[in-house]
Amino acid sequence: MEQRKPLFIANWKMNKLSKEVVAFVPIFYEAIQSVSQKCEIVLAPVAVYLSKLIEATRSTSIQVAAQNCGGAKSGAFTGEISPVMLKELGVNWVILGHSERRHVFKEDEALVSARLKAAIEEGLLPVFCVGEKLEERKSGQTFAVIERQLKGLKELSENHLKALTIAYEPVWAIGTGENATSAQAQEVHAFIRQWLSKNISSPFANGTRILYGGSVKADNSSQLMAMEDVDGLLVGGASLDPLSFGEIVKKGLNS
Ligand code: PEP
Repeated sequence: MEQRKPLFIANWKMNKLSKEVVAFVPIFYEAIQSVSQKCEIVLAPVAVYLSKLIEATRSTSIQVAAQNCGGAKSGAFTGEISPVMLKELGVNWVILGHSERRHVFKEDEALVSARLKAAIEEGLLPVFCVGEKLEERKSGQTFAVIERQLKGLKELSENHLKALTIAYEPVWAIGTGENATSAQAQEVHAFIRQWLSKNISSPFANGTRILYGGSVKADNSSQLMAMEDVDGLLVGGASLDPLSFGEIVKKGLNS
């Protein structure tokens, strides 16, 4: 099986002003010094501070992600930021299909797919988020929802898909303090990997990282990361504090 290097992503959502973005870096980097070679770390600030963060992380191994991107290179799309522009800034990663984008801003499958295609074509590394709502889980729809969200991947070539990371983020666990148990996370991660194997290819499924996100904290990161198909964590609230995110990374790596 191909090696899947652990990946930890901080999604800061619409939080932190520029001074706080810059101040985070040295404190966090010192906290994770001993494990920085064992994993990849990506921080996702609001778009207006991407350049500041790129500058602040320049002499570190920390990478930077945008929280979304437009579905075209340029054009009449007020408020959007194209993947070409992100690349020009020096951004390599982008989070796409986050549950807040899907459910608060009503981004549908077609829009998320267009964003994904545009991001991949410009050479960004997308973190493609999927996850079910509470009522969908309660009514036994979890796998059907995930399958529907993954379906668009079939339209992309395997060569393009090499850039992809998937994040399973149950909507009911995001920002609620109620994380999925490690068994619940593993069950869905295994389902995603099987789907990738059946619909793309087995080497692709084995080499693709699947992250868990939803109320991850320092006291649950190690159990979640111990699961066979959990290759990393996407962290919102608990990533805002550099020491808290540092603990999540270290405990997740069992260090
Ligand atoms: C997220 O925003 O992707 C997330 C998982 O948030 P939280 O960790 O706060 O649940």
